[in-house]
Amino acid sequence: AVDAPCLVHLIQEIDGMDTAKFGGKAAGLARMAAAGIPVPPAFVIGTDAYRAFRDSGDLPENLMPQVDRAMRVLEGHTSRSFGGLSALPLLVSVRSGSQVSMPGMMDTVLNLGITCRGAQRLAQETGNADFAVDTWVRFWRMFAEIVLDLEAEVIEHAVVSLLDQTRREPSEENFLRLETAVLGAIVAQGVNEVSADPAWQLRRAIAAVFESWDSRRARAYRAHHKISDELGTAVTVQAMVFGNLDSRSGSGVAFTRNPNTGARELYGEFLAGRQGEDLVSGSATPSPLGAPGGLSEAHHRELADHGHRLEEMYGDAVDIEFTVEGDRLYFLQVRPAKRTAAAAVRIATELVDEGMLGRAAALKRVSVEQLKKLLRPAFEPDVLVRTRPLLEGIGASPGHAYGIAVLDADRAATVAASGERVILVRPTTSPQDIRGMLASRAIVTAKGGALSHAAVVSRALDVPCVVGCEAMEVDLAARSFTVGDERLEEGAPLSVDGATGKVYSGLLPLEPASQATEQIDRLLVWADDRTQASFWAGSVGAADAQTALRQSPRGFGVVALTELMIADETLGDFIDAVNDLGQQPDRKSTQDRLACLAYQACQRLMLESAGTPIDLRLPNLGSPRAQRMIGSWASLAPRLFLPLGLKGLYVALLRGIADAARETGHAQTTPLVPGITAASELQAFKRAAAGLGLNQVGVVLQSPAGIAEAHGIAEGASAVWVDLREIIRTYYGYPSALSFADDVFETYVADGYLAHNPRTALGSKLAELFAGVAAVAAHRPEVRIGVECGDGAALSLVEDLYRSGVRLFSLPTTALPSARLALGQLVV
Ligand code: ADP
Ligand code: MG
Repeated sequence: AVDAPCLVHLIQEIDGMDTAKFGGKAAGLARMAAAGIPVPPAFVIGTDAYRAFRDSGDLPENLMPQVDRAMRVLEGHTSRSFGGLSALPLLVSVRSGSQVSMPGMMDTVLNLGITCRGAQRLAQETGNADFAVDTWVRFWRMFAEIVLDLEAEVIEHAVVSLLDQTRREPSEENFLRLETAVLGAIVAQGVNEVSADPAWQLRRAIAAVFESWDSRRARAYRAHHKISDELGTAVTVQAMVFGNLDSRSGSGVAFTRNPNTGARELYGEFLAGRQGEDLVSGSATPSPLGAPGGLSEAHHRELADHGHRLEEMYGDAVDIEFTVEGDRLYFLQVRPAKRTAAAAVRIATELVDEGMLGRAAALKRVSVEQLKKLLRPAFEPDVLVRTRPLLEGIGASPGHAYGIAVLDADRAATVAASGERVILVRPTTSPQDIRGMLASRAIVTAKGGALSHAAVVSRALDVPCVVGCEAMEVDLAARSFTVGDERLEEGAPLSVDGATGKVYSGLLPLEPASQATEQIDRLLVWADDRTQASFWAGSVGAADAQTALRQSPRGFGVVALTELMIADETLGDFIDAVNDLGQQPDRKSTQDRLACLAYQACQRLMLESAGTPIDLRLPNLGSPRAQRMIGSWASLAPRLFLPLGLKGLYVALLRGIADAARETGHAQTTPLVPGITAASELQAFKRAAAGLGLNQVGVVLQSPAGIAEAHGIAEGASAVWVDLREIIRTYYGYPSALSFADDVFETYVADGYLAHNPRTALGSKLAELFAGVAAVAAHRPEVRIGVECGDGAALSLVEDLYRSGVRLFSLPTTALPSARLALGQLVV
């Protein structure tokens, strides 16, 4: 006979690196068990079974017999019996777990296996009737909610009048009375298939956990985080340990490093006398790990020691879910810790310093998104000092944001879609609120601790969040909230500081982000070391030269002379002069005017950037930009549309540049002639420049024709920049009026007209073209040959260019850090 496929695996027998098959949770349990860290006995059903379940709509036929066999093993390990009558009861949790951590998005059922007889025995065994009742009720609440899709209140309602009696006398009969009431209430809700048989419950719970992979909230989370729906979830079945056993017991969460700051310290919370679910749901307020009366010193040490082992194993900061049962500490989960952007940078660099992580791997520990967020604006400090907060709670996820208060998650999503900045204000949040949370600039809750749903999710999303604003009462029906005597309506303007936990009335001004920290700089230098790429800051003006210099670019370029004139407010004069020159090309006074305008435009930037080379692009009057700027464009003299069509024009501009360079002592200015397609054009330009004392000249190539001649052109040039946007546009022949900024291509691609979006991907033909540019660059290391990626160039395009071999980039200052990191992550 052919062996049936093995769908069920004991935790100690699986490969802890195979997270695709077993999910991160079971894999983590396996790795802990292998390292001798105490883990309750467990087995796992792999994602292959999930796929079979999804495809057929039912659990695979041979699954439950294998589960039964594995349950026998758990019974052996624990000396308990699942659903049996004779021994103490074995209770299990049925836990979801996929390859990618999706905190709180899927379902887990606790305490499964409890029967009336079992509950009575549990009370007897522990001498703790409250414990037995609590455990029994929690099981039914969770089972009703997760498996039967009912409200947990249905269960609470059904049993409330019977609880006291059962607590006083935890007899099998009394539990039977509870059971009858619960089953009756469930049936009354229209559920016609329900049973008190643990074997039946186990089967249903496994199916329900599989189904939770496809819940609305899980799908929304995956869509947002670009996680594939195909991964599926594994199911871990694990013997229960009880944090609600007695007052010494409890459950907690520990981070090996502070998830807000990244500081190296055991950080977390412990909830005495309760099961872990209370902690995760935020329904009770726990105390910090070190607090007196909480976790014992010995357990604290054990947690720290094992935590360190786990950091070494994962090469990363981890978070740990644990439970103390009586005097024993159990580890229930480990995973790379969710962290804020600031913590991510600190942890990545410190792990390298501590020798736990290589530099390449460290680059992947900080996402481009996180880096961007770190470089985002914050409230002005002196305004903060002067302003009295409306509310104070626990700062659960740092960051500054303002917006209008909205009290309902669905409405928050709608209001945000209309373009408003929304602050979501809630009593607490639950997984149902995820859509609204995604759309909000900040989240404020009245209840919950630093590990409540709102706190955990907002940290993962890096949305500013303040929880536990005890002074606030939210009245959902009246759509208002009160703080003391003050009553605020939905729509009230708020400003939130997620680091300090302060919420302010009104809209506080935001100022640009503080400059890159030392740690970010280190990471980016590591990235550059790997990529061997270098970066110039494009479109820099005198006013932002200093800001740009802090990103340590190799130079300023490509800087457009016309951009400098815009900043100078002299562009209008320039256009008038160009028009005049078009009519009378040899008129000396017009040429002087043009020289003077060029001089003015670049002289200040030269002063601000002593020692930093500037690649300065002359205006290209044939360009789409010029078309937009010059109203009388169509009536310009035809010669003006050619790069070197009117000698009087470019010589005048070169003269102004030469004067400015001489006067400011800026020796490294390279004028660039745009739009040429032949080496002979460059030679003419070069001669004109040399006559004015400018010995370095370069070009900007704007068409495939120019690229085709790049080899010959590069021979005489100091710099060759390829204008990415213009190459894409002219390659496809798109008219200049087509804006690359608003993404018209997206729907076009979605409709199936094009295979890829030209705005976000090069495609193989353009990639070849740029590979040609890269080859010329490799052939001529003495010439600066790079690609100019102007405003709004997608990061993915920059990555494609890198893959084509391009190693020199010009990018807007604000795009530099992201690009450096993203390229660093590309290099394996
Ligand atoms: P999630 O994926 O939402 O974190 P878990 O499967 O980790 O769900 O379960 C949630 C909580 O339930 C855990 O943090 C833990 O406290 C508790 N739990 C799960 N399994 C057990 C168990 N076998 N014994 C005790 N507590 C458990
Ligand atoms: Mg968990």
